[in-house]
Amino acid sequence: MKYIIIGAVAGGASTAARLRRLDEHAEIVIFEKGEYISYANCGLPYYIGDVIKDRNKLFVQSASSFAARFNADVRVCTEVTSIDPAKKTVTVFDLNNFKVYEEPYDKLILSPGARPLIPPLPGVDLEGVFSLRNVADTDYIKEYISRVSARKAVILGAGFIGLEMAENLRHLGMEVSVIEMGGQILAATDFSIAAIAQKHLREKGLELYLDTTVEGFSRAGNNLKVLLKGGDVLDTDIVILSAGVTPDTRLAKAAGLKTGAAKGILVNEYLQTSDENIYAVGDVIEFPNPVTGEPVVSSLAGPANKQGRICADNLVSGNKRQYRGSVNTAIVKLFDLTVGVTGITAAGLKEKGISHLVSVIHSNSHAGYYPGASLMTIQIVFAPESGRLLGAQIIGGEGVDKRLDVFAAVITNKGSIYDLTEIEHGYAPPFSSAKDPVNMAGFVAENILTGRLKTVQCTDLVNIGADAVLVDVRTEKEYIAGTINGALNIPLDDIRGRLADFPADRDIYIFCQQGMRGYLAQRILTQNGFKKVLNLAGGYLLWKIYADEWRNLCKL
Ligand code: FAD
Repeated sequence: MKYIIIGAVAGGASTAARLRRLDEHAEIVIFEKGEYISYANCGLPYYIGDVIKDRNKLFVQSASSFAARFNADVRVCTEVTSIDPAKKTVTVFDLNNFKVYEEPYDKLILSPGARPLIPPLPGVDLEGVFSLRNVADTDYIKEYISRVSARKAVILGAGFIGLEMAENLRHLGMEVSVIEMGGQILAATDFSIAAIAQKHLREKGLELYLDTTVEGFSRAGNNLKVLLKGGDVLDTDIVILSAGVTPDTRLAKAAGLKTGAAKGILVNEYLQTSDENIYAVGDVIEFPNPVTGEPVVSSLAGPANKQGRICADNLVSGNKRQYRGSVNTAIVKLFDLTVGVTGITAAGLKEKGISHLVSVIHSNSHAGYYPGASLMTIQIVFAPESGRLLGAQIIGGEGVDKRLDVFAAVITNKGSIYDLTEIEHGYAPPFSSAKDPVNMAGFVAENILTGRLKTVQCTDLVNIGADAVLVDVRTEKEYIAGTINGALNIPLDDIRGRLADFPADRDIYIFCQQGMRGYLAQRILTQNGFKKVLNLAGGYLLWKIYADEWRNLCKL
């Protein structure tokens, strides 16, 4: 059996290695148009930022070591320019020797990845304007920064890679501005989580331009300028375009393979394309999202690697292993904070008209009495009837990653918030609390689902009626230090003695610092006959950040 693989990084190299492990006698030919194979794309921003100092560390394998270890024919600097599914051949262009030739296959695997979206703006081709996808881009950027002694950088797009670049360029001592068309950074999160991240980035010295559109770039000598809609201009030395990626389906489309609504190659559950002899993996494919069933692409290294393994199994043993899809679990380090997301956001569910409930908690990373605990904020979204977990987002310091992975596993296994309440975790004071933040998120969600806790999100607090009463149940000292406009102060411990101060005929909105005291206050009031009492999710802590970051709310 002769396999040809197009693309030799995450998906392609994984497929090739697994193919060899399963079939010692197969012929495996890998075409890679770049110079390198199996390298760490995910490490590129950190190499630019001098966090990873040794360039060699980016390379998991060289073409020759991979060829020797896996007895594969690895042809780098060789681009596949077309596929003929009827003849079962590919046409390739040897970029070093300028030779074109055909290569036949029995089975073809596509893993060409995604392409950066380059906004068609005037000046986008100017010197100093870069995008980052591979080692060559990395080398250009690093060399340029050093050659022009770059002091200022503008990042266009506040997604994961854009923000990683922002942090790394800041690490090099540069002044960094991030421009984002949307009203928040990290579109994969809900605003409550993004707001906390934004505050942190500003504290670390980044300039954030939200709701801001770039209209072009200009250069006069050494002077590179970013032209913003509305007339403002930013001077910079370097621009990094991070406006997202799109599946590189050019070869597939030209060969007549079917693509889908999410612009990826359509594959079945065995990762087989519309041609039975062609399989595809990685950033280039689309697949139904396990939560919504809608077609999505997943531009993540984890799914690409795992698909490679499944694909190879199906190629060698027949279509037996089904790919279940990716819940798009992603994580990013933003200076001292970590942001993790998995599943669908509340905003995403709202957009799709899928009914859901939201719960927000703040919880310590480990026992508060053991030194070094830090607060993390967790927002989960879940189905109103079944409690099925639909999404989770976390921001915090230590331990965000392990909680994220638990949520991802529960979502993947179609679990519910009841599973969260029972998950057994390893506990000792340096690592967690007897009730882990994951359990706490489940408890709060369970209270919401059973109607014991009624919450209002920061987003909705703005819409409360004029005759509603807002009550701050924190201490007087906390109240004086800062509260929400128009709030009365009735501290939690005084409530039982001051029930008469709460108007029985009006909606009552309660908040405390983090949400817990508000819940206790709500329990007291509802059990004393007050009909509509809502507790602010995430408390004043979240509200303060949220309001500061959301200009419209600031006007309140
Ligand atoms: P790729 O790994 O992109 O490999 C595709 C290869 O195919 C390329 O080398 C390309 O040159 C080659 N190719 C394309 N067309 C042809 C052709 N016609 N002929 C020959 N060769 C061809 N994901 C995470 O999960 N976590 C992270 O922290 C993370 N960080 C990232 C940081 C950066 C800067 C980048 C760029 C990506 C990051 N990713 C991250 C995404 C992750 O790298 C990708 O999801 C993953 O590499 C996709 O694997 P793939 O095999 O589909 O494509």
